Amino acid sequence: MNLLEEIGNAGSVAIAGHIRPDGDCISSTLALRGYLKNAKPGIKITVFTQDNPPTIFSYLEGYEEMNLTYSPKEKYDVFVALDVSSLDRLGDSLWFFENAGKTICVDHHETNPGLADANEIRPKASSTCEVLFDLFEKEYVDDKVAECLFTGIVHDSGVFQYSNMSRNSFNTVGELVEYNFDGPKIIQDTFYEKTYVQNQILGRALLESILFMDGKCIVSMVDRKMMDFYNVLPKHLEGIVNQLKNTRGVEVAIFMYEMGTQRFKVSMRSNGFVNVAKVATLFGGGGHERAAGVEMNGTYYDIINALSREIEKQMQ
Ligand code: AMP
Ligand code: MN
Ligand code: MN
Repeated sequence: MNLLEEIGNAGSVAIAGHIRPDGDCISSTLALRGYLKNAKPGIKITVFTQDNPPTIFSYLEGYEEMNLTYSPKEKYDVFVALDVSSLDRLGDSLWFFENAGKTICVDHHETNPGLADANEIRPKASSTCEVLFDLFEKEYVDDKVAECLFTGIVHDSGVFQYSNMSRNSFNTVGELVEYNFDGPKIIQDTFYEKTYVQNQILGRALLESILFMDGKCIVSMVDRKMMDFYNVLPKHLEGIVNQLKNTRGVEVAIFMYEMGTQRFKVSMRSNGFVNVAKVATLFGGGGHERAAGVEMNGTYYDIINALSREIEKQMQ
């Protein structure tokens, strides 16, 4: 895809990622904003995001200007969906998608059906930020855009650790670090550093985790009461599932938190053997081979049973 050609002579561009935005989501939307400001000066650009975007990303250029209210309801010439694997993941920005003159999607989820008029879906890419860098004409990439792209890759690759880091991913990081920003500080401040209560709730989740399937699976859950007690939001629970996954012998880690009565947000991580995107897709979610998510109804035990049946099938 030639991104600038696809955008053409649009006078207004809306950009949005997925609900409950993560690092790649926030970073890719702000990277595209910065890039378009350089490449097509004068056009109107709005980045939409759900209320309460993680404040750890407030150093990214354009963070303060994001539209959190999804208003006014104006029609845009072009809508670009980034890191969004299915339309239900657009949340309140769906209205702008449906009412745009043209839609574009850039993503890296293997479960993405190609949801826009023009699509660039690369399941092998570490992150949407990596795909964007490939699409960007380098003369319009400045330090601020590079800082966004670097942040997105850091977050979706677990600091360059996961198997989604290809040669192209490392080459991209190599090119990005030539720009002027503080990479090590970004990694420490946005990926590793947690607040005291975040660490406490992580500790609780680990303490109360359960091993099953002969130690091949681990599961833990945080309920409303616990979230209220520690006064944390869902976004503060990021990273718990990865810590569960780092348990010797475990193939699949499942972490869930209570969204409402008998409704849970489920995160799954695989150490390689099980394709958790397949499991999540069966229940209406999606993601990647080794990291996937889904929202499910039922009791905690119903959900564990349903998921473990599918995981077990793959383990045979
Ligand atoms: P999470 O467990 O929320 O960190 O998500 C892991 C991966 O799965 C990310 O790439 C998400 O974008 C994706 N994902 C999470 N929840 C869903 C969902 N309900 N539908 C589709 N993809 C999801
Ligand atoms: Mn994401
Ligand atoms: Mn992503």
